[in-house]
Amino acid sequence: MSKYQVNQKGYYGPFGGAYIPEMLYPNVEELQQQYLSIIEDPSFKEEFEQLLRDYVGRPSPLYPAKRLSEKYGTNIFLKREDLNHTGAHKINNTIGQILLAEKLGKKRIIAETGAGQHGVATATVCALKGLECVVYMGEIDIQRQAPNVARMKMMGATVIAATSGSKTLKDATNEALRDWINNPVDTHYIIGSVVGPHPYPDMVARFQSIISEETRKQLLEKTGKATPDIVMACVGGGSNAAGMFYHFLDDEDVQIIAVEAAGHGVDSGESAATTQLGQEGVLHGSRSILMQTEDGQVIEPYSISAGLDYPGIGPQHAWLFKSGRGTYVSATDEEAMNAGLLLTKLEGIIPAIESSHALAHLEKMTFKGDETVVICLSGRGDKDLDNYMKYFGF
Ligand SMILES: *Cc1c(COP(=O)(O)O)cnc(C)c1O
Repeated sequence: MSKYQVNQKGYYGPFGGAYIPEMLYPNVEELQQQYLSIIEDPSFKEEFEQLLRDYVGRPSPLYPAKRLSEKYGTNIFLKREDLNHTGAHKINNTIGQILLAEKLGKKRIIAETGAGQHGVATATVCALKGLECVVYMGEIDIQRQAPNVARMKMMGATVIAATSGSKTLKDATNEALRDWINNPVDTHYIIGSVVGPHPYPDMVARFQSIISEETRKQLLEKTGKATPDIVMACVGGGSNAAGMFYHFLDDEDVQIIAVEAAGHGVDSGESAATTQLGQEGVLHGSRSILMQTEDGQVIEPYSISAGLDYPGIGPQHAWLFKSGRGTYVSATDEEAMNAGLLLTKLEGIIPAIESSHALAHLEKMTFKGDETVVICLSGRGDKDLDNYMKYFGF
């Protein structure tokens, strides 16, 4: 068993676990007891692989980015999660969880969403399977993200506004949990990243691990070696990064770099650079690192990219950070926006602003010239066009 993977009690080093209200015990315990036997079952694997292939469009290409490589003087490959159906890696997880929900006999799906990306990925798989879908979303986010609300509704989902607190993601999460407590028998709660109580972080990482599984095969074909020198990904909650790192964790000669969002700057008071600003604590059901005040109140994060605007990181990332296995860095809004524009001009690929954070770190690295670098391009930038337009004045 890898020392970087979850142990039998649901922990990564000191992080993880299931810190939940007593009323959620039955729901979470059912998952803990069943998730591994279900997702390792051959009939589950077969349907998961079939849908990833025929519906999502996997394997996603591993693209040797020639002009980007020339610019930085090394060999850069982009893992093209942006080419997946619905435009990002999130669908890998929602496909896995909808199949799990079916096997558990659940008829109703709930989810929380911030900017709406996870809500859309969940509504998509519910339409695919004909299951009832309820998405909780902060009232303010509903106003800000009208196109994603429309997408969810077109796919038959009910979008419920969370009207308490700051009326954003945190409050939507509370509403979803309340719903789950009230509907433990027929409902499955699809969490969108490697966060939440055990077994969610491990379960979501396993579904996203297809990213590094494919990358190993593709690298072997293209370079003659299955492992790169460096893998990089952006981190919000950390699911695309967890998937990108998964099958390289025990190859200690592969350097792992995770890029958080520094917003207006790590010390600006408006950022989401969790490992640099955070302390250990409990958030959304697991022990991890999170941004909090001295008396333990969660600090509102900020990033120009909605997907990285999260005050914590998943427990596996907290462990990779603390153990020193991973290098955790950050990129500001400005650095990310410039990196996104650079990729667009050099390669004709408009990245999601989240993914642009990973690209931005290239500017701060020095290369000998013969390295193999793999960057997870977690999503496409169509959803961010307004932001790019406003920022650059196009
Ligand atoms: C949601 C999202 C992220 C951040 O989520 P992780 O769980 O950290 O991967 C990153 N990139 C894109 C394109 C997203 O939609």
